[in-house]
Amino acid sequence: MKCKSCKKNIGKRDGVQVYKKGTDCADVDQIVKYVICKNCLKHGEDFAYCSLCGDEAAFHTSDLVSDGFSWYCKEHKGEIMDDEERESWMDFAGYINDPNH
Ligand SMILES: [Zn+2]
Ligand SMILES: [Zn+2]
Repeated sequence: MKCKSCKKNIGKRDGVQVYKKGTDCADVDQIVKYVICKNCLKHGEDFAYCSLCGDEAAFHTSDLVSDGFSWYCKEHKGEIMDDEERESWMDFAGYINDPNH
């Protein structure tokens, strides 16, 4: 297989799976057919793992936010919000998890 980004041939084990553009959080159904190489993941600017989703597949960096050190998907962005934002987010999470409404 070939790296989608640099077109180099890569071994099966060195291929990194990628989520479709616009993916909010890790979802195996959103993994696209092509792969990129680890080198492009590490040194390129187009793809990165969400720090909290793990390394199943990489996101397009346009779908991620960075805190300056790590990347997070839209779903996990909540983990890096400041306290005020986190509080309202927690309220919302409590609301949608509440079976009584
Ligand atoms: Zn590559
Ligand atoms: Zn995530």
